Amino acid sequence: MFLAQEIIRKKRNGDSLTTEEIQFFVNGITHNTVSEGQIAALGMAVYFNDMNMDERIALTTAMRDSGTILNWDALKADGPIIDKHSTGGVGDVISLMLGPMAAACGGFVPMISGRGLGHTGGTLDKFDAIPGYQTEPSSELFRKVVKEAGVAIIGQTGDLVPADKRFYSIRDNTATVESISLITASILSKKLAAGLDALAMDVKVGTGAFMPTYEASEELARSITAVANGAGTKTTALLTDMNQVLASCAGNALEVKEAIQFLTGEYRNPRLYEVTMGLCAEMLQLGGLAQTESEARAKLNAVLDNGLAAEKFAKMVSGLGGPTDFVENYANYLPKAGIIRPVYADKAGFVHSMDTRELGLSVVTLGGGRRKPGDALDYSVGLSDVSALGQQVDADKPLAVIHAQSEDAFAEAAQAIKSAINVADVAPEKTPEIYRYIRATDL
Ligand code: URA
Repeated sequence: MFLAQEIIRKKRNGDSLTTEEIQFFVNGITHNTVSEGQIAALGMAVYFNDMNMDERIALTTAMRDSGTILNWDALKADGPIIDKHSTGGVGDVISLMLGPMAAACGGFVPMISGRGLGHTGGTLDKFDAIPGYQTEPSSELFRKVVKEAGVAIIGQTGDLVPADKRFYSIRDNTATVESISLITASILSKKLAAGLDALAMDVKVGTGAFMPTYEASEELARSITAVANGAGTKTTALLTDMNQVLASCAGNALEVKEAIQFLTGEYRNPRLYEVTMGLCAEMLQLGGLAQTESEARAKLNAVLDNGLAAEKFAKMVSGLGGPTDFVENYANYLPKAGIIRPVYADKAGFVHSMDTRELGLSVVTLGGGRRKPGDALDYSVGLSDVSALGQQVDADKPLAVIHAQSEDAFAEAAQAIKSAINVADVAPEKTPEIYRYIRATDL
């Protein structure tokens, strides 16, 4: 038997906690036998004194085990259970293509995704733009769609990782979100509770990233790779660029449209293609569906070109209650904004840098994200045709096209975009889409 206050004292003094102590405390978080004050105090002690990898693994697995853990054995799937998670970005629509692509290559992808947070978009909000699509299906329907379509992307169910739900909301109010140890445990406990064989983790870097510097993103990527592999799930983290909007657009229905155009080959933004392929190729290798990066890429290009990935997407959408002809007739189903109009730079030149976070916030302000929890979203609004770094803009080529519902909202977004996108006389140096891979063997 332990005392919560003694565990807090030990961490406050900079000592390491044992697995048993961490399990005791997490059990108390789940069952309300440690108080909110004690949870906040431990969070702050960890923030200042950190946890070593063994402690992080113990915290992650204890949190993972605090609620239901999905088990796919009964599915008798003839392929690995694989998934991807991102720290969040702007125009990051990767999951919508990557899930069906991985499924088309023989994987099974039970993806549990989240809603928009801060300036970042949420995969779940994008699916809510599709009429009829159930983001909170019964567990029977979830399993059925994973089995039949190979992929189902849904929201967090009630009893998955209750310890994180309580801990995160207290961290959010007590200034301890920014701890690499706590972020690692929070993200991975939820992902590992989905019963995965392998995971590719997309850790964003840049002006639209959750972590403030490249070094902090790399530290998080290393922590996630070490802890996830330590907890028994084969995992690689990729450090990817978020110094510009990833897709050509940002906004819920707009991103769904771009995902379909990507899957059908109608239009593939090259940045989005590179990051999607990098992550998905890693998933296939970790899951044993390809031996090398080039074999994985060849398989992925084949399922994009022969339409199988688009077919998997269509099957998932209809399986979860969406229209059966959604891929063919998406334009009939997705909502459109009242005002669709370009915004131009004040002077001609090259797009030199962007404050991607501000661009994400402009989508929130247009009504595409939440100002407070529970706000209803307008799925139609956002930005399309967003100019890329290095692109020339002038009186003919706009910075972006704004999709708004009122003249006031348009004017506010136009102002925000003009100040977020910096135009210069020279083009910037090109930055890579993927900075580096951090595999278990790199630690
Ligand atoms: N996202 C999470 O799920 N948890 C964190 O702690 C930070 C980001």
